[in-house]
Amino acid sequence: MKPLDLPWRDHAKLPMEQQALQVLPYPHPALRRPCKPLRRVDAELLTVIEQMFEAMYVTRGVGLAANQVGLPLRLFVANLEGEAGKGEELVFINPVISRPKGNEEAEEGCLSLPGLYAQVRRPAKVHLSAFNLNGGEVEADVEGLLARVAQHEMDHLDGVLFIDRLSEGAALDIRDGVAELESNYAQRIERGEIPSEEQIAQQQAAFEERYC
Ligand code: ZN
Repeated sequence: MKPLDLPWRDHAKLPMEQQALQVLPYPHPALRRPCKPLRRVDAELLTVIEQMFEAMYVTRGVGLAANQVGLPLRLFVANLEGEAGKGEELVFINPVISRPKGNEEAEEGCLSLPGLYAQVRRPAKVHLSAFNLNGGEVEADVEGLLARVAQHEMDHLDGVLFIDRLSEGAALDIRDGVAELESNYAQRIERGEIPSEEQIAQQQAAFEERYC
């Protein structure tokens, strides 16, 4: 992997209005846009990553990918306890998954598809390579919940959602819930409950220019 630039002392403000990050619901187009590799990590990004953990804990999520909060970057955060002050806060930058082994079905949900859960079949074990926040390389064989979370979040970074990976039966079971999210979406944007697509496009451009 190409090493990251780490201009730690760069506190230059991001060219955007800093606001609390909000998890974007399906079918926001940001969720379908593949993320780009980071080439640097700076002090402002550390603040953004803290905000990602906060946004994740609001709904006791265990993983959150950057494009779920409108950031076009290949990074995800995880805490298998889903609660601040408990468990370990993990950050994976430019993650790569390889060496899939076995397969396993387990229930998944997603902060971008609130209230929907379904069985998803995935490899049981994978190898995960990434950078951590210190620019160090992380190499790990993972299984169990972390393997599940890592694969779910990696899918997000490629614009893929767990509802894309369902058996016909499982897809049928949550079809109404998916349709409801789709039909509420426009109203919620109109009411200002969700950042508009233009707002997110501006944020994406600012982050890409600075980090990719
Ligand atoms: Zn998700």
